[in-house]
Amino acid sequence: MEIFEKSRGPGGRLASKRIDGLRVDIGAQFFTAREPRFQEVVSHAVDAGFVKRWRPRMGTFINGHAMASPDFQERFVGTPYMNAMGRYLAQSLTITTQLQVATISHHDNQFHLTSTDGDVYTASQVLVTVPVDQMTSLLPSYDMGDIASRFTMEPTWTVVSDLETSLRDRHDNPLDALFGGDHNVFDFISTERSKPGRESSYVVTHAKPDWSAIHIEDEPASVQNQIDTALETIFGVSVKPIIAHRWRFARPTDPTLTTQKGVFEIDEGLWVAGDYLAGGRVEGAYLSGIEAAERLNR
Ligand SMILES: Cc1cc2nc3c(=O)[nH]c(=O)nc-3n(C[C@H](O)[C@H](O)[C@H](O)COP(=O)(O)OP(=O)(O)OC[C@H]3O[C@@H](n4cnc5c(N)ncnc54)[C@H](O)[C@@H]3O)c2cc1C
Repeated sequence: MEIFEKSRGPGGRLASKRIDGLRVDIGAQFFTAREPRFQEVVSHAVDAGFVKRWRPRMGTFINGHAMASPDFQERFVGTPYMNAMGRYLAQSLTITTQLQVATISHHDNQFHLTSTDGDVYTASQVLVTVPVDQMTSLLPSYDMGDIASRFTMEPTWTVVSDLETSLRDRHDNPLDALFGGDHNVFDFISTERSKPGRESSYVVTHAKPDWSAIHIEDEPASVQNQIDTALETIFGVSVKPIIAHRWRFARPTDPTLTTQKGVFEIDEGLWVAGDYLAGGRVEGAYLSGIEAAERLNR
């Protein structure tokens, strides 16, 4: 078995970025585990020290105001960064990193994977786990129109800002993270310092998908400025801009749309898997991958 990954390591959208000697999570901020198979692997990852429980003081936006909204949801984060979950799952695997597959075709009873460097690899079975929007160019000899039009992804602008003071709701309750609720810009806000093992005073803000779509071609500095101004207005704090990251394909538009078992066979021996086929989220990605692995083994 060979695994090709275009970036420098496993993790994908469990991404972090290095800024001034510190790292900050810029993709998924946490994950949940509801299905027994995922709960089991998360529990092993916790025992092995790759994942920790995160117990933020939660808030949400109601009528545009920040309000404390404590809950009992169990949340997990990779430690020291989110991609630790990817590294945990990949421990026994050999991954060829920094290799981007450009196209996959089928002839002479084999699949041919051509890298962006022009190298060709052959295989009798292939599992493709790239986000659905990138599938069409990857599989030019297959008609991906149906799956690509049904399983669409939404964008997210992510902004990292530096805040020396803590976030508080309008009744002065301290908050570590907030859902966007009915706020027209914010989708999720989280403070790095509240997560186990993080020391920075960075705050990560994901913008709502529809706001992100409207602003998708804006300059990062303009998006940073708009989000920082919204943070300053709501929380009455002063904010230092750090970075803005554009996710063109962040999360499935409709997470309730799934395929049976979360995988899809395009051609005999050619499978696709990923979060978007199994309810979105980290848990969906894992369950889809496990199902695909079982089918390939059969
Ligand atoms: C802003 C944001 C917020 C999120 N919030 C949450 C959350 O709160 N909770 C939650 O559970 N989930 C959240 N998610 C979703 C979660 O991150 C994803 O569901 C999950 O990580 C998807 O895993 P995946 O393996 O299906 O895809 P990915 O993580 O996208 O992995 C695909 C991999 O394929 C590689 N790749 C792509 N193209 C090629 C190619 N041509 N050749 C070689 N390699 C390639 C990529 O580099 C990547 O490593 C969020 C995502 C984003 C972006």
